[in-house]
Amino acid sequence: MDSSVYVFVEDLRGEGVERVLDRISGYGVRGVTVGAVHHASRDVTPHGLSRLTIRHDGAHFAAPHDLFARLRPVPGYLGALDGLRQACTERGLKLHGWTVFLRNLALGEQHPDVTVRDCFGDRGSLTDLCPAHPDVREYAVALARAVARLGVDSVVAEALHFRPLKPQRSFVPLGPMDAYLFGLCFCDYCMARAADLGVNAEVARDECARIVGGVFDGDPPAQGEVTRAALTAYAGPEVVAYARARSETVTTLVSEVASAVAEEGSRLVFIDSTGAVKGYTDGLPTPGLAAHDAWQLGVDLVALGDLVPAFGVLAYARDAARVADDVGAYLRSVGKDREVRAVLRPGFPDSDSSDRLVAKARGAKAAGASAVDFYAYGLVPHPVLDRIPTALGEML
Ligand SMILES: [Zn+2]
Repeated sequence: MDSSVYVFVEDLRGEGVERVLDRISGYGVRGVTVGAVHHASRDVTPHGLSRLTIRHDGAHFAAPHDLFARLRPVPGYLGALDGLRQACTERGLKLHGWTVFLRNLALGEQHPDVTVRDCFGDRGSLTDLCPAHPDVREYAVALARAVARLGVDSVVAEALHFRPLKPQRSFVPLGPMDAYLFGLCFCDYCMARAADLGVNAEVARDECARIVGGVFDGDPPAQGEVTRAALTAYAGPEVVAYARARSETVTTLVSEVASAVAEEGSRLVFIDSTGAVKGYTDGLPTPGLAAHDAWQLGVDLVALGDLVPAFGVLAYARDAARVADDVGAYLRSVGKDREVRAVLRPGFPDSDSSDRLVAKARGAKAAGASAVDFYAYGLVPHPVLDRIPTALGEML
C-alpha cells in the first residue's frame, strides 16, 4: 500500500533535508509530499527551528519565467527543495509536490480584480482567487507545469476549486446556508459562465443579496446544514442552478491542469477541501459525507473521475467508521478504479492513541483506499509521528 508524510519546506530548512528524510524513511512510508507552493499561516511547530512558524504565500522554487503571464508565483524560499529529489531517490522514496493553487492573499492583494466578488459586489476575500477568471486559470495551468517539472511523481492539488467564506469575525448569526450564499462568487466571469448554461445569474445574485441582507437587518438566520433541497426551499431554484453551474468552471479547470501535468510527465492528485471544512477544527465532521457535499465548492467528483487519475480524501475525523465511510463514498463517486488516498492526522485532534490511528488506517484500506498519507511532519510532536510505523505495519 502506498503512503507518504506531508512535509513543509520550513521543516526541511529547520532540520535539514537529510535528517528529515532519514526519520521519514524510518517510519516505513513510501514517499514524502512536500509543500512546493503553500499559503500564509502561523503554526505551532513542536520540533521546528522555531516553535511558532510563520509561513508566507509562496512557491519554494525558481519558477520558469516563460511559463507565466500576468499572475506570477510569489517567490518563497527559493532553493528550499534543492537536493530533495536526489535525496528521496537515494532512500527509495517517492516525491510528491503539494501545490496550493487558488488560496493566495499575496497574489490577491497584487491583483484584486482576479479575486471572488460577493452578491453585494464587494471583493472582501482577497485570499480567494476566482477559478472562473481567465488569468487565474492561466496561472493555475502554468503553476502545475512548473511543479511537475521539479521531477515529482505527482502534483498534489489543494484549493483548485471555489472556497467557502471564512470571515475572521462575525457578530451576525449567519446560518450555514446564509454563509454559503454570502460566499458565492458573482464576478463577471462567473456570471457569464452561469448565463452560458442557461442560468439567470442576475436573479440568483439579487436573491442572495436579499436573503443575506435580510439577516444583516435582523431576520432570523437559516437553520440546518446546506443541502440542495434545503437550499432550493430557502433561496429558490435559480440560486441552486447558479451554485451547480460552478462545477463546470471547476471541472474544466481541473481538466486543463491534469492534462498539463500529464504532458510534463507527472500525474495529478486532486484534493478537495470539503473534508477539512467539515472536520478540521475538532475531528468531528458534520453529518454529510465529504463526497456528497463537495458540489458546494464546485467540485463534481463524478465528472472529475473521468479526468483525474488520483484523489486525496481529507479524512479529518476521530471515528474510524467515518473515515471508511468517507473513502467508500469517494470511490463510489470517482469510480472504483481510481486511486483514492486517505489523508490522516496521526495526532490531535483526530487520533488520541496509536490504536485509533491504526483503526483508521485499516478502515481506509478496507473501504478501498490505495494509499494513506499522514499530515503533517512539522505540526506533530515526534512521539505522535512514531505512531506511523505501527499504523503501516498493521496494514501489511
Ligand atoms: Zn468568480
